[in-house]
Amino acid sequence: MNRKRRGAAPRGGVEVPPTPGATRARLLMMLRRSGVIDEKVLAAVERTPRDAFVPAVFRDRAYEDTALPIGSGQTISRPSVVAFMTAMLAPGLRMRVLEIGTGSGYQAAVLTWLCRRVYTIERHRPLLSEAEARFQRLRLTNITTRCGDGVRGWPRAGLFDRILVTAAADDVSSVLVDQLAEGGRMLVPIREHDGVQRLVCLTRTDSGVEVETLRETSFVPLVGAYDEPDPQEVAP
Ligand code: SAM
Repeated sequence: MNRKRRGAAPRGGVEVPPTPGATRARLLMMLRRSGVIDEKVLAAVERTPRDAFVPAVFRDRAYEDTALPIGSGQTISRPSVVAFMTAMLAPGLRMRVLEIGTGSGYQAAVLTWLCRRVYTIERHRPLLSEAEARFQRLRLTNITTRCGDGVRGWPRAGLFDRILVTAAADDVSSVLVDQLAEGGRMLVPIREHDGVQRLVCLTRTDSGVEVETLRETSFVPLVGAYDEPDPQEVAP
């Protein structure tokens, strides 16, 4: 049988483009099939219009499970990766969540439905400005943004219950671990010696840090001026 990959069945020879609602429903089905079972996460994905977070030229592919270019050499992550990371982060409605790597703003927007406030840092100003405009258009008001090197975290904002790094690091930043509240959890993709990236989950306990390796990932690299003092944090 000749199946169409996208779009509704042709009527009178004309292919009718699927509505964003229909394609979003299809994405939800795919996420369920791929093993995402957390209903709160699925509901947050359903409420977040991914087509608003991709460049116009890719809008008809917004609900495919694929990473897409967003400019500045960066990408919006695959929805299945966003859903998996969100489920593993296990945010709670009273929690403060720090995201490193705003990119398009999609992951941060999904998190807004699941926690008290999202703090998100992006090093590329043009990407951050576009993400901020999207947050405003969608009236997502529980997000605070910052342009800078996320590797330094956001010490002035206080401790975070959850930290999510959405770019691949060479090692776990102790600066970020220090910004986790007790009982707090951090997810970070780490490039290991065998060249493979793996998602690592760290939990801060009263006696130290527990580390669990979750699964292989494929993120763009985390880029940072790790050793220089952050001008925004240094008192004048
Ligand atoms: N979370 C994003 C989304 O939902 O679209 C996708 C993140 S993209 C895979 C990784 C992002 O991390 C890029 O936008 C990149 O510019 C940013 N990034 C890389 N190194 C960074 C750093 N040191 N501080 C802040 N952002 C960084």
